[in-house]
Amino acid sequence: MNPVIALVGRPNVGKSTLFNRLTRSRDALVADFPGLTRDRKYGNGMLGGKTYTVIDTGGISGDEDGIDAVMAEQSLQAIDEADIVLFMVDGRTGLHMADEAIANHLRVNQKKTWLIVNKTDGLEEHSAMADFWQLGIGEPRSIAASHGRNVTALIDQVLEPFPERDEDLPADTGTKGIRIGVIGRPNVGKSTLVNRLLGEERVVVFDEGGTTRDAIEIPFERRGEPYVLVDTAGVRRRKNVSEVAEKFSIIKTLEAIKECHVAVMVLDARTGLVEQDLHLLDYVLTSGRALVLAVNKWDGLESEAKDRMRTEIKRRLGFADYAELHFISALHGTAVGDLYPSIERAFQSAHSRWSTNRLTNILRDAVEQHQPPMIHGRRIKLRMAHQGGTNPPIIVVHGNQTGSLPEAYKRFLTNTFRKVLKVRGTPMRFEFRSGK
Ligand code: GDP
Ligand code: GDP
Repeated sequence: MNPVIALVGRPNVGKSTLFNRLTRSRDALVADFPGLTRDRKYGNGMLGGKTYTVIDTGGISGDEDGIDAVMAEQSLQAIDEADIVLFMVDGRTGLHMADEAIANHLRVNQKKTWLIVNKTDGLEEHSAMADFWQLGIGEPRSIAASHGRNVTALIDQVLEPFPERDEDLPADTGTKGIRIGVIGRPNVGKSTLVNRLLGEERVVVFDEGGTTRDAIEIPFERRGEPYVLVDTAGVRRRKNVSEVAEKFSIIKTLEAIKECHVAVMVLDARTGLVEQDLHLLDYVLTSGRALVLAVNKWDGLESEAKDRMRTEIKRRLGFADYAELHFISALHGTAVGDLYPSIERAFQSAHSRWSTNRLTNILRDAVEQHQPPMIHGRRIKLRMAHQGGTNPPIIVVHGNQTGSLPEAYKRFLTNTFRKVLKVRGTPMRFEFRSGK
């Protein structure tokens, strides 16, 4: 699991500036994720050969009285989820009452905490730092987040106790088969589904040993096909559904997404879609993972309610329409077996390879069918296409003036490729390049 760094501090000290620098570094592996809550933002990054996850806590406001008000709930949660806390203060405004209130909280917290004095660009460093010693958090470290000054050196030092690891792709642990991650917000029925998936007839669950990392891997076999269930949320550890689930954790959900080949996202037909569902989906999309959607608790619903749910999903999940959609009852096992063919298709699609010849022919046919527009009296030319990667598949289209391609035309092209190549269940990425 990536080390998790939480950025904490009052508003305006430069947390988002540092967050952006840490997640958009040239070699960042994954772009930042939009926040699951409005107040917390999660991102993955890489500096100096090590990967990490950063949480930006939007607003510990300094105006309230009392520690509870100052340390907003969401910051406490971020600290809770983190391995390392970077407590940021502002070198220009100097020590602030709210800084002391936050420091008081951090001192009783057991987390490894670094005191970061930001905005020291153009300041006389020694005097800028002097005040902050009295916070009792240890040696203040000077950085300028907006200039990147001292940032890499700081992160190097902060991450020193953590081993170097390549985190981009699902771990190659030697276990065979498609790695399935079941995700979703609390109470949608993940645990019921997991037990159903494993409890089905003809499923052979192997010994749970061989766990190498934080994620528990449960290899199993269904109709002779090997699969691995990736359980980062402790879903499987519950003996029955009345047992309380481990606290819902975004970090663990991110981990599950990263560790699996195909994410099965569970939605609840009883409650309909809520904001948290959409944010979770956003994470899956940003990560480029293959996806199968399962609308659970479909049992016993009035047909009117079913129609409403279908319509709502079509309308609001348009951005994830590449994913195959299933209406299931994990409780009764209805349609649960149908998830497997979708999982297979999503996996195959995500790992497909196509020749440059084939892709270029599809491009030519598309252009013939529907020409790109003229820009400044010259028609946009699209010449060839090749594959730039898999999982998710990347198609690189070469031509000229591709920077001026209208969004609608790009959509036409991407839909055409998707249809002709029969890609289902995985996002695809398209890059447009211009040559001479
Ligand atoms: P947040 O509220 O803690 O997330 O703070 P922001 O990242 O939004 O930064 C607040 C302001 O401080 C912005 O105007 C930034 O441009 C500015 N800022 C951030 N880092 C630096 C820095 O290293 N030096 C200077 N001079 N300004 C900075
Ligand atoms: P998790 O928190 O996502 O793991 O959700 P659980 O598996 O613990 O399920 C939450 C509740 O929903 C439990 O009371 C389950 O019995 C119930 N539940 C799960 N699946 C279904 C279903 O298909 N139909 C109905 N009616 N209830 C379900």
